[in-house]
Amino acid sequence: MIGTGILKGMAVTLRNFAGSYFEKERLTTVQYPEERSPLPENYRNFPFLVYDGNDSQAGLRCVACQICEKECPPQCIYIIKSKDKKPDYVGRPQFYPAVFDIDISVCMSCQICVEVCPFEAIKMDKQFELSQRERFDHLLLGKERLSQSNEYYHKIHPIEAAAVDKNLAEAAAAAEAKKKLAADAAAKAAAAKAASAGDAAGVSPAKPPTGTPAPGSTSAPGQKPPETTNS
Ligand code: SF4
Ligand code: SF4
Repeated sequence: MIGTGILKGMAVTLRNFAGSYFEKERLTTVQYPEERSPLPENYRNFPFLVYDGNDSQAGLRCVACQICEKECPPQCIYIIKSKDKKPDYVGRPQFYPAVFDIDISVCMSCQICVEVCPFEAIKMDKQFELSQRERFDHLLLGKERLSQSNEYYHKIHPIEAAAVDKNLAEAAAAAEAKKKLAADAAAKAAAAKAASAGDAAGVSPAKPPTGTPAPGSTSAPGQKPPETTNS
């Protein structure tokens, strides 16, 4: 029958309207801005830059590789790379952004910059109350305004941030293990070089007693010759 759907819809509305006086779950609106509905984990608005530690500039994860700048579809990211370097989270010296601007009046919240960043340095914010009276200056965000701590990232995207921390910890452990292996290999190579230098100077390594000295073996002046046992 024509109009049945409308009647069913009105019945649902009426049931929720009356029920909302008795059950809070039936309320689908809140008294904004005094009350706010929690935003879902994957809600996103504009990007921000993540920093570790207490210093919002020295702790920036961004290494100014400019991949996000190249990949941003509306080209609203502007980066100038530093001349000097600073250590990253695994201690490797890296460039950092001397300038990092995002024009959020152009940004379309596509998250491509986040997807392409190899350093987990840029993430999507949930801040949406950003209205300004002046479009050009106030909506062009520099790195000081874009920087947010890792704790803030955990607060707004707890699941995603925990996964990122795990990946970074694994990468740091792998880098540390690689560094240790390289140091061990260098120490072994240095020991082998020192031993061969000793051989070249005529100092033969100690030989186990065999009863007969090896033909052509030499001893350093003043060095006690190896003991021999004759049976
Ligand atoms: S979210 Fe999209 S449009 Fe905005 S800065 Fe990132 S890549 Fe550019
Ligand atoms: S945010 Fe990421 S992709 Fe963009 S410049 Fe920094 S490190 Fe590179």
